[in-house]
Amino acid sequence: MDARSAALVRANFRSVLESPQGPERLVSAFYSHLFAENPGLYELFPPTMDMQPKRMTMAIQYVLEHLEDWEQAQKFLEQLARDHRKYGVQAAHYDRAARALLAAFRTYHGAAWHSELEEGWRDITILISAAMAIGANSDKSKPYWEATVVGHRRVLDDLAVVRLQSDEPVPYQAGQYVPVSVPQRPRMWRYLSPAIPANPYGEIEFHVRKIRGGWVSPAIVNETEIGDRWQIAAPLGGLHVDRDSGRDVLMIGSGTGIAPLRAQLIEMGQRGINPRVHFFIGGHYPCDLYDVENMWQLSQSNPWLTVIPVCEQKTNPWWYPHPAQDEPYGMHRRLIGNLGAVVASFGSWADRQIQIAGSAHMIADTRRALISVGTPEHNISCDPV
Ligand SMILES: Cc1cc2nc3c(=O)[nH]c(=O)nc-3n(C[C@H](O)[C@H](O)[C@H](O)COP(=O)(O)OP(=O)(O)OC[C@H]3O[C@@H](n4cnc5c(N)ncnc54)[C@H](O)[C@@H]3O)c2cc1C
Repeated sequence: MDARSAALVRANFRSVLESPQGPERLVSAFYSHLFAENPGLYELFPPTMDMQPKRMTMAIQYVLEHLEDWEQAQKFLEQLARDHRKYGVQAAHYDRAARALLAAFRTYHGAAWHSELEEGWRDITILISAAMAIGANSDKSKPYWEATVVGHRRVLDDLAVVRLQSDEPVPYQAGQYVPVSVPQRPRMWRYLSPAIPANPYGEIEFHVRKIRGGWVSPAIVNETEIGDRWQIAAPLGGLHVDRDSGRDVLMIGSGTGIAPLRAQLIEMGQRGINPRVHFFIGGHYPCDLYDVENMWQLSQSNPWLTVIPVCEQKTNPWWYPHPAQDEPYGMHRRLIGNLGAVVASFGSWADRQIQIAGSAHMIADTRRALISVGTPEHNISCDPV
């Protein structure tokens, strides 16, 4: 695609992003064309697609930003297509999607549409669909694995620990996350981080917090039953301890964000030699530190691990009518304050490899606190949120 054509489609796409309800109108036109031409595809999609305009326009934007670095865009699109296999989307569907996207641009712009735009967007949609078809064809592994719920423990009113037994072991690395679909909300895939490492018996554990107003997490916490069949798609993410770097480790997790860190620590516990790890576990109230005792037990038999509990409040909230438990004898005393601020009060941890896991807000906050005391940004890893 020549530079003039690339500039034209970029400017045109910017006008869509900047106009009120532009992404929503474009994506709605896309699905109208796609389903009108291919009614059979409708059943592949989840019942609510409120996040689709944002996700789809972000993906197109990413491609437009990488037209001159196509290898990067190709990698991204191939990964997207591999991930879409969990919906039942196949390589042949991408050509139809490309035609629907081009038609959506035509519908969106109406009388303002012209032949140069037609040509530019046709090239882009063909590039996208070809890259995605390659991605869909390149992965011959299963699009998802099935697993049976064998345990559901309501640890807090809004938090459950769910144990599953998969039919075959899911090949994830400790620290990765996986897309999950539950029978109460079919096809509404959400990312969850296994809280234990993969094992040959196919046992998996997830820690799930109920998000108020959410579609899937309340169903998991409130409605999961033993025997439910879940679907688990291919793992993503790269949180890991770099054993070759010779650096010690700092882990910071809050809420169910401890899950990917916990899985790595349990795996490290199965090895003889490990770097030193400081693990700060945070929560708003003492009751949010629902797993701190297990982690402390792990540290008892693994002297390389130090667990430090941190809470913003000293006491439990009114809706959790139990006194805050004292830490087990010998464990680091509970520190009170904002998690990021508490960790940063120990210094910059500049010699550490650092992992942060939790909500988007907590990750941003903690990153900022560390960087402000001199932590090199490139030492910090976290999952995309
Ligand atoms: C890499 C990764 C790993 C994850 N691992 C876990 C895990 O191990 N355990 C776990 O419980 N969750 C985890 N999540 C979050 C999970 O994927 C869902 O986003 C969450 O459960 C909400 O889904 P929902 O369907 O209930 O809410 P949705 O219906 O998707 O969202 C409803 C509303 O809540 C908002 N919302 C969504 N998530 C949050 C949040 N965390 N805090 C505040 N508002 C939110 C949305 O913006 C939306 O407005 C992870 C997310 C990512 C990106």
